[in-house]
Amino acid sequence: MTTEQALVGTVATSHTSLEPQWAEVVSVEQEITEVATFGLKFKDPAAQSAYNFKPGQFNMLYLPGYGEAAISISSDTANKESIAHTVRFVGSVTRAVSKLKPGDQVGVRGPFGSCWPMDKLEGKDLFIACGGIGLPPLRPAIYHILRNRDRYGKVTLLYGARTPAELMFTTEYETWRQADIDVQVTVDRAEADWKGRVGVVPMWFYQFRIDPRKTAVLTCGPEIMIRFVIFEALARRIAPESILVSLERNMKCGQGSCGHCQIGPYFICKDGPVFKFSQLQPFFNVEEF
Ligand SMILES: Cc1cc2nc3c(=O)[nH]c(=O)nc-3n(C[C@H](O)[C@H](O)[C@H](O)COP(=O)(O)OP(=O)(O)OC[C@H]3O[C@@H](n4cnc5c(N)ncnc54)[C@H](O)[C@@H]3O)c2cc1C
Repeated sequence: MTTEQALVGTVATSHTSLEPQWAEVVSVEQEITEVATFGLKFKDPAAQSAYNFKPGQFNMLYLPGYGEAAISISSDTANKESIAHTVRFVGSVTRAVSKLKPGDQVGVRGPFGSCWPMDKLEGKDLFIACGGIGLPPLRPAIYHILRNRDRYGKVTLLYGARTPAELMFTTEYETWRQADIDVQVTVDRAEADWKGRVGVVPMWFYQFRIDPRKTAVLTCGPEIMIRFVIFEALARRIAPESILVSLERNMKCGQGSCGHCQIGPYFICKDGPVFKFSQLQPFFNVEEF
C-alpha cells in the first residue's frame, strides 16, 4: 500500500474468495423507474452477524446463469438486519436482479474496496456532490453523519437527477435536513410545475460558500459530472487530496485479479472505488489551476 492509499479509507478486504455466500431477498423497494433497492440477508445467521462494511464499499451480486455485477451497499452500516443494494437495471445481471422478489436467493461476495474515510473527515465541512445512481454509494456516509452529526462541520448535499421523477430517496431528505444537512437538488430538465433548480450539478457550485481550508468534497455519479465537480472544486482552491471520488468502471472479479477495472496503477475494485483526486490526477484529465 502506498502512502497515498493509506490516506483514503482503505479497508482490509474481508473476502478474497470467488465463491459467493447465499443471501435471501428480504425487501424490494422501487425507487424510480428502472431502479430498485434490494434488502439482502445471508441465509447463514453467523455470516449475517459477522458481516461488516464501511460506507462506500460494494458487493459482487451473483445470479446463476447471468453472472455477477458490482453493486454498492446503500444501507446504514449500523443496520445488522439486512444489507441494501440500489440497482439500476442496465444489462444482463441487473435485468435479472430486477425480477427478484422477497424469498429469492442471490450470491454475494464482499464487502470489497476502499471507503469514504469518515474518521479522517471529522472536523471538516463536507460538500457531497453526486448525480443519479451516485447517491446510493454515499447514503451510508450520510447515515454515518446523521449518527455522528457533531463530529462534522457544515454538511451540504448537492444532488442531481435527469428529471424530478428520477430523484432518489426523496422521502429521507426531510430527516437529513432536520439533522442540519443542507440538502439541495437539481434536475437536468423539468416541467413548468418544478420550482427547483434546473441544470447540472457542477454549475451550481458558485451558489455555495465553501471554505477550501476545511472542506472535503465527496463525489460520485456519471464520470462527466465527476470531472466537472473536480474542476469546480479545484477552482475553489480545494486541495486535490481533499477531493474524494468514487469511480465505477466495468469489472469482473472484484479482487484485483482480472484487470478489467484498471486505471493507471490502480484497480478500482481493490484500490478504489473511493480515491483521493491526488491519486488519480495523472490518469484523469482534469486541468488544475
Ligand atoms: C464499485 C462499483 C460500484 C457500483 N455500484 C453500483 C450500484 O450501486 N448500483 C448500480 O446499479 N450499479 C452499480 N455499479 C455498476 C454496475 O456494476 C454495472 O452497471 C454492471 O456492469 C451491471 O451489470 P449488468 O450485467 O447488468 O450489465 P452489463 O451487461 O455488464 O452492461 C450493460 C451496459 O452498461 C455498460 N456498463 C457496464 N458497467 C458499467 C459501468 N460501471 N459504467 C458505465 N457503463 C457500464 C456496458 O458497457 C453495457 O453497455 C457499480 C460498479 C462499480 C465498479
